[in-house]
Amino acid sequence: QPERKNFADRLEKALPPARLALLKTIAEEAHRHRLPIYVVGGFVRDLILERPSIDFDLVVEGDAIALARALEKKYGGKVTSHSRFGTAKWQIGAIRSALIEKMKAEGELRAEDLPDSLDLISARTEFYNYPTALPTVERGSIKLDLHRRDFTINTLALRLDGRHYATLYDYWGGMNDIKKKLVRVLHSLSFVDDPTRMLRAVRFEQRFNFRIESRTLQLMSEAHDLLKQVSGDRLRHELDLILAEENPVSALNRLEELNLLSAIHPDLHWDASKSDALWRVLKEPLDPAWQIPESLGNQPIRNALAYLVWLIPFPPVSSRAICERLKLSHHLQNAILAGNHLMDELPQLIGQPPSRVVARLEEAPIPALYAIVCLCPGNEICQILNRYATEWQKVQPLTDGYTLHAMGIEPGPVYRRILWALRAAWLDGKITSREQENALLNQLIYTQIIQ
Ligand code: ATP
Repeated sequence: QPERKNFADRLEKALPPARLALLKTIAEEAHRHRLPIYVVGGFVRDLILERPSIDFDLVVEGDAIALARALEKKYGGKVTSHSRFGTAKWQIGAIRSALIEKMKAEGELRAEDLPDSLDLISARTEFYNYPTALPTVERGSIKLDLHRRDFTINTLALRLDGRHYATLYDYWGGMNDIKKKLVRVLHSLSFVDDPTRMLRAVRFEQRFNFRIESRTLQLMSEAHDLLKQVSGDRLRHELDLILAEENPVSALNRLEELNLLSAIHPDLHWDASKSDALWRVLKEPLDPAWQIPESLGNQPIRNALAYLVWLIPFPPVSSRAICERLKLSHHLQNAILAGNHLMDELPQLIGQPPSRVVARLEEAPIPALYAIVCLCPGNEICQILNRYATEWQKVQPLTDGYTLHAMGIEPGPVYRRILWALRAAWLDGKITSREQENALLNQLIYTQIIQ
């Protein structure tokens, strides 16, 4: 009983009143259908660790789709479902205010505290027909549903229906491992079933400042070659999650220490000397003078910059192979390869006039240049890149294509040559006024047309 009170209080503290009311409304409906319903996994773990999150998954011991349909009928919204997996999504974005009206609760409820949608999942068991395959799914009890999860710390469930409200179900020793600060798999074939769990183990270990339990660590060392069989998309997804952690550097150090990166690709390593650069691109404000775009292709810019900092220092052959292995987007691959080549060539730009620098860098993606600056801050190359991105890149002559057209010059490649010559003259300080530009323009037209 004291434990139940404790968890009821924790739920109350963690969730905005409207979310809590929603949880109770769903639990009430489940209870009416005699369906046990639980919040599970990361939400419960974080509740115990006092790092509450507000997003929860609901697992129903029975037909979650039927429950979602009953909620839809009673309260509105829209249900989409996957009968193969027994999962339903109840979309409530459009009915938030109406829902607030209908929910019985004390205190002030705010529609904006409600989520856009909720996932209701039927408890299920999964079988792996062969290692690393996607699992086959069957209906099951909450206990078995929890057993298919990655680590004991993620197997806790908090029951919500009727008199069971706020009762903790701890079938697999999760509470004990949270207390002991241990990341432990549930069975010895866990990493064989899903090798990406090795990356998840490191992520949770570093996030919570836990330790991977010793037998689990041993299973990892035996299984790490299985990462070779995992698809690039799945690996990249896990690496993206690691890069989005509060302290990605410690997780990368640990992945390196455990030889998990070289298991992904033999050339892939993490070198702690890049830590400052990674920190800078992920956590610090990006230099506004650079006007860095918010995304590279459709990838959020910080994530793209993290890969750039990580992979640009590799030899081009290695980084090309790693890009392929991780199925990085073409935009990102191009930026990484441009960066690789620039690392070799940049020293030659020292002492060159600005127009030479611009001619060389014009094609380079700005995020790649920014990553290089973060990797070698303060040196001469970095100063050149800074001036390029913040000043030189923007220098344009006053003359443009319309001016040339108005002067009666036949459109063609000659336009580009003239405009570039004018731009180069501005860049190198050979002209500094409209008059000087006009004089040079006349001279250029004369020579270009003579040619
Ligand atoms: P986070 O705080 O990073 O969101 P989470 O524990 O909520 O962590 P999710 O990736 O959202 O993690 O997964 C939800 C739940 O699904 C987890 O608690 C975990 O038990 C389970 N899970 C996720 N991925 C796996 C996996 N590869 N193998 C087994 N269980 C998994």
